[in-house]
Amino acid sequence: MENKKKLPLSLYGFSAEMLCVILDLTKPFYGRQIYQWLIKGITSFDQMTDLPKFERQRLSELMPNISSSSVETSETDETGAVKLGIKLYDGSIIECVLLIDSKGRHTACLSSQVGCAMGCTFCRTGTMGLSRNLTAEEIIEQYIHLCKVSEEPVTHIVFMGMGEPLANIAPVTRAIRYFHEENGFNISLRRITISTCGVVPGILKLAEQKLQVKLAVSLVSADNPTRSKIMPVNTTWDLPELKKALLHYQRTGGKRFTLEYCMLRDVNTNEFAAKKLVAFAREMDVVVNLIPWNPAEGLPYETPSAHEIDAFARYLERMNIKYTRRYPRGREINGACGQLAVPLNKGLEVDYYDDDDDDDEE
Ligand code: SF4
Repeated sequence: MENKKKLPLSLYGFSAEMLCVILDLTKPFYGRQIYQWLIKGITSFDQMTDLPKFERQRLSELMPNISSSSVETSETDETGAVKLGIKLYDGSIIECVLLIDSKGRHTACLSSQVGCAMGCTFCRTGTMGLSRNLTAEEIIEQYIHLCKVSEEPVTHIVFMGMGEPLANIAPVTRAIRYFHEENGFNISLRRITISTCGVVPGILKLAEQKLQVKLAVSLVSADNPTRSKIMPVNTTWDLPELKKALLHYQRTGGKRFTLEYCMLRDVNTNEFAAKKLVAFAREMDVVVNLIPWNPAEGLPYETPSAHEIDAFARYLERMNIKYTRRYPRGREINGACGQLAVPLNKGLEVDYYDDDDDDDEE
């Protein structure tokens, strides 16, 4: 019986050397050529015109599909933000978003899982439950799809789409290393942000790996009982444990990170909540990002009033806590971790701290 070689579902995520092995290439530079075509988003061997014709034919027969996902839906809002629905090889659908900020930066907001197990009560993805983890290839392909709909180079990446990236850390870090590859996309690690709801072992792993990406932690409340009610993750890793991990992360070389504070009317916006937040943020080099919650159908929260937000922000200012503030910008998509199930025109909150100074530091 013929022993057929097992091929991967996608060629994304592999080095030029690995491509030689996977595709039985006779010349090492074919691997480098294919790698470069993949980076350009070419998805058919026929289009790799610097390969000999016979090799193109052989490879097309060997592997008719060199990527494992396709764009199923696309929506654009007036800011130029584009949300794509991506169909995976098994029929699952995930979402990713191209964001364009006021400085003209083009950012890919990527998903790391199909659904999410974390169950944060303010997030629609949290209501889906977890279907499965994404592979590194599926993560990389989201970026490729977004590059194709972008008129400008996509220079920043945030893991704030569907799923908890630190609950799928190996494929996420493999994808990050691929994005960072000098001969490939060459994206600075400081332009890549991982957003977590507070998965402590993942934060410790990032510290251990010394992967100098930016970190954003979705805090939402600095009061333990309140946070446990809003975010079930807090019942596994509570605030003291989270703070310990974040202090360790910073002491072992991690830089300033963001505390994302999704503001929920009458839940986490009073003076008591602000005092708790100030106490939590002390001793750490952090920026608090105030994000008024955007309404999402079926979720039991309300957006705070401008007055509530102002008062909260003023308190942080008085206490010398660095913060940024997101103002609602109509239909613009910002995006927050996992809120991609929200229709495009509702507006989302994705954030990374706005610190250009260390954009290119490694
Ligand atoms: S906020 Fe992030 S971690 Fe929490 S349920 Fe949504 S996707 Fe999952």
